[in-house]
Amino acid sequence: MRIDILTLFPGMFVGLTGQSIIKRALEAALVEIELWDIRDYCLDKHHSADDYPFGGGAGMLLKPEPLYRLLEQFPDNAHVVHLTPAGEPLKQKLVTRLATAERLVLLCGHYEGIDQRVVARFVHQEVSIGDYILSGGELPAMVLADAVVRLIPGVLGSSLSLQQESFTTGLLEYPQYTRPTDLRGDRVPELLRQGDHGAIARWQRKESIRRTLQRRPDLLLTSSLNKEDRKILLQLLREEGNNHASHDPTPGKGNAEKGFTSFQTR
Ligand code: SAM
Repeated sequence: MRIDILTLFPGMFVGLTGQSIIKRALEAALVEIELWDIRDYCLDKHHSADDYPFGGGAGMLLKPEPLYRLLEQFPDNAHVVHLTPAGEPLKQKLVTRLATAERLVLLCGHYEGIDQRVVARFVHQEVSIGDYILSGGELPAMVLADAVVRLIPGVLGSSLSLQQESFTTGLLEYPQYTRPTDLRGDRVPELLRQGDHGAIARWQRKESIRRTLQRRPDLLLTSSLNKEDRKILLQLLREEGNNHASHDPTPGKGNAEKGFTSFQTR
């Protein structure tokens, strides 16, 4: 896969391309990332990239000419994505679809956004990384690129870790522990250390469903729960009901999990 990123701030991407998993993927030629400085395509004397919006309104817009010059260069198989708060919310399903593209072009807005004609002429898809406003499309482009690159075969050591992750299964991932087994009296659940793989798998499934119920019950509506899962869910709902009947729901210090439960199910 190749990812082209169009930005006024190519320097921001040093962190993305120079560290960790993406750095290794680039070194192994599993992905190519090319940065395009929009300013290089601003041909007026002052290399200005912005202009006033017609009709007034606060702030400036990215001028269309530099973006036309840049975007005209890409071949037909390039899938052009504009990062914008008005786009389709980025979810794992969308990441999975984007990861099948041969070539992604990520267009980072700035100021109050870009001239709509650029979107109409060149953009195939608009994507938002969440319901909040950032100063530019650079962080959203990095989020998208990171999420996509780790799905490219060979980028992560084991494809199993991908299959078990939150959202891929339709549920949030269960809690995990590593050594030591006892840290200042905080102990790893005994069952996980006994080597009974069936019991461990059942525990993980139950904790996954419990966490999803507590934190993101909306996900349960679309996840594919089997008969056993539904039994677990019913049992958890009963437990939740009992807890609420008998406990003060004020979240306590160092009790984040319980606090979250109380908040989410109020
Ligand atoms: N005026 C715009 C609005 O109200 O939708 C916000 C402009 S924002 C200050 C500047 C740029 O940051 C946008 O053009 C977009 O590229 C990027 N951006 C900001 N928040 C974003 C988000 N949640 N998802 C994707 N891109 C975002």
